Formats: sequence, C-alpha cells, structure tokens
Amino acid sequence: MKTQFLQKFYQKTRLDRIDALRLAEAISDEDANLLKEGLTIPNDIANNMIENQIAKYELPLGAAMNFLIDGKEYVVPMAIEEPSVLAAASSAAKLIKQAGGFTTRVTERTMIGQVALIDVPNLELAEKTLLEHKDEILQKANDSKPSIVKRGGGAKDVVVRILPADEALETPAFLVVHLHIHTLEAMGANIIDTMVEAIKPYVEELTGGKSLMGILSNYNTECLATAECRIPVELLAKGEFSGEEVRDRIIAANQLALVDPYRAATHNKGIMNGIDAVVIATGNDWRAIEAGCHAYAARSGQYRSLTSWTKGENGELVGRLTVPLAIGTVGGQISIHPGAQFNKRLLGNIPAKELESVIVSVGLGQNFSAIKALVTEGIQKGHMALHARSLAISVGAVGSEIHEVSERLRQHQHMDLKTAEQILLELRKQNEM
Ligand code: NDP
Repeated sequence: MKTQFLQKFYQKTRLDRIDALRLAEAISDEDANLLKEGLTIPNDIANNMIENQIAKYELPLGAAMNFLIDGKEYVVPMAIEEPSVLAAASSAAKLIKQAGGFTTRVTERTMIGQVALIDVPNLELAEKTLLEHKDEILQKANDSKPSIVKRGGGAKDVVVRILPADEALETPAFLVVHLHIHTLEAMGANIIDTMVEAIKPYVEELTGGKSLMGILSNYNTECLATAECRIPVELLAKGEFSGEEVRDRIIAANQLALVDPYRAATHNKGIMNGIDAVVIATGNDWRAIEAGCHAYAARSGQYRSLTSWTKGENGELVGRLTVPLAIGTVGGQISIHPGAQFNKRLLGNIPAKELESVIVSVGLGQNFSAIKALVTEGIQKGHMALHARSLAISVGAVGSEIHEVSERLRQHQHMDLKTAEQILLELRKQNEM
C-alpha cells in the first residue's frame, strides 16, 4: 500500500479521501466509483434479509488509518454513528505504529454447539456413556453437514458438562453436551445448529434424558484473539504529564476497571466501540460478538476489564486484549451485503483468522486512546468538537456553515441547540451583508 497518499486523511473532503484510497492502491478504480455512487443495499435484497422490511437504516462508514498489525499495514473499515471513534482509533494506531505496531495471536477457530438435557436418570453414568460413544456422536454430527467436512472442517470433539441442581436458584440438574466444531471461514451458527439438531436423538438415547434444546454457544472460549502493543514512555508524554506519569495513570485506570464493574462496563464499552464498528462493517453478527465478549469479561465470576495494561521490563507500557471473536468472512449476510463485500476487498480479502487479528487490534487501540484521554486531558475535549458539528447540522447549517457554526460554538460558553441557532442566524445575516 502506498500510504503516503493517506497522510492527513481526516482533513480531506469525502471525494478526495476516495481518490487517496485509490492512489494508495487500497481500493480499485471500480470500488472508487462504487463509493462515489454510494454503497446501498438494493431493495429486493433488503426485503429478503429481514421480515416486514420498510426501509434501509444507514450508518456512516469510515476508514481508520495507520494500523500496523503483525508487520502489515491495513486501512480498516468502521461502520459507526458515534463521533470520535475513528479519530481515536487512527491516532492510537499512529502512535502504536511508531512503537512497532500490534502483534497478535489467534487460537484455532473452534466453535461450540450445545445440547442441553434434563431429567437424566444418572448424570455420571450418562457422562461416561457419552464419552465412550464420542466417535459415533462426531460421525452423526459430521454426516449432517458433509460440505463443511469436505472443506476440511467439521465436528472434532465432544465435551460433557454436568450442571448440578441449585436449591437457592430452584434449578434442576442439567447435562450439557458440547460439540467442538471447526467452521473454517464461517462464523458457523447455522452449521453448528444443524449439527446439534442432528445429534439430539442419539444423545437422548445414550443418556435416557430429554433434550431441552440444541444451539451454538456465543461464549466462544475456544476461538480467542489476542493483540499486544508495547509503547515506550517517550511516546506517551501529554501536556503537563510525563511519559512515566501517563503510563502509570493508564495502568491505574486499567486496575480500576479490573476491580470495579461500574467502571469496567464503560471501559469495555470503549473497546467495543472499535470492535463492533469493524464487525458491523464486515457484515458480521455484532450481537453475537458483544454477548461473547461480555461473557468473557465475567469469566472470573466478576465482570472486569477485558484489557490489561502493565509496565514492561524496560519501563514501557504493555497493553493486551484477549476476546472471543467468532466472526466469518463467508456466510450469513456477508456475501449479499454490498457494504460488507466492499469492506472485505478494502481489507484485502483476508481470511477469518487475520480479520480477528485486525478486530482485536482495533479494540486495543480504541481502549488505549480512551483511557489515555481520560487520565490526561479528559475525554470531553475531543468529543465536543464533533458534538459542535452535530449541533450545527441539527439547527440546519449546510456546507461551509457547518464548520463556521461549530467553530464559533466551541468558543462559546454554552454549547447547546439555542446557541447554535443564534450563531447560524448571525452567520447568515453577516453573509447577506
Ligand atoms: P451460513 O449458514 O451462511 O453458512 C456458511 C456457509 O458458507 C457454509 O454452509 C458453507 O457452505 C459456505 N462456505 C463457503 N466457503 C466456506 C469456507 N471456506 N468455510 C466455511 N464455510 C464456507 O452462515 P453461518 O453458519 O456462519 O451463520 C451465520 C449467521 O447465523 C449469521 O447471519 C448470524 O447472525 C446467524 N445466527 C446467529 C445466531 C447466534 O449467534 N446465536 C443464531 C442463529 C443464527 P456449504 O454448505 O456449501 O459448505
């Protein structure tokens, strides 16, 4: 990629940004034209995606810059309505790039399907019998979806969990059978659901219990992605704070989010700002990812920060984020959504594992920007610039008026709709003169 064309991307107009992406060879001429025309879902596709469809509800799509991940540069698509998120991601990525970029690790992409059984007469015996018939269970699962087996995936393992009855919660005992499945490039919900449905009668027969349900688990503990960055203190100084102070304040902020769920929820929301925006842009199921990440944040029994920020051997700031990321590059709506298809090309048609690396890095970068701002100048300063633009647009400013009104608003003591209206009125009067 010729990244020199992407300098000061944020200062360009929308059309100039598209040209810059083309010149940088991040997108083709064809895709540049597609972007200029606008990426919309054709009506007949939208109508077939959901039930009772009446319109299309859009989100802005932005390109985050400066991401250097495992030695490779990426322009990262992010679909999000919230101001500041792309700016924060790009600025974190710029600083982390100076520090050598992100390094990532991704586990084998193993997904989990569950069959839950009730009224099992002897739980221990049932567990033993199920494990003795592991091969038969796997065979039945794989026979139900031969195409994924042919591609090299399929059901690989069976795990049995006994959940004892709980008097306080008034819940019965459950026997839960887990199928571990390789869904390759797919997120795999439908593949997994087909397999668990197929084994239900057989596990009932083996255990003497009654199947309550069979479905995938969104708590994807066997499909984890980790990003790491190491930032020397020289790169961290900000305003009145030295690099060491910023490092230590970031570490303290993370410690607070480890022990306080009230803070952890907001801390993790900031991480999900980045993760969700890429997950949405790539046509993936963000509810599934949200559910998995928050469940993972509570894996110790208390809801905690998903990131860790510590001091490295050489005094540098070390950041790490591990999250379950059951995303896909095929399946679901990915192949029929023009935006998802475009973003897949923008990312260079990377496989699912590499997409996980990109997403987890964006999450870590987003968290870095947010807590760095919080423990130095505060987060409101950056937010207010974009809030001013939103206010200007809300009161009817158009074209160059938006910049003019938002700049004047920022100088004003009160940044609200009434003030924005007055400023727009004054500006228009001045322009008439
Ligand atoms: P699909 O049902 O579309 O399955 C993916 C298909 O892609 C496979 O069946 C396979 O076709 C094809 N494919 C082509 N190339 C590959 C490859 N290299 N690796 C793997 N598959 C390949 O999608 P998913 O099963 O991934 O399901 C995702 C959808 O399920 C999402 O829309 C999600 O919202 C939804 N969902 C989510 C739930 C949840 O999270 N709880 C519950 C239910 C649904 P072939 O058959 O030819 O092999």
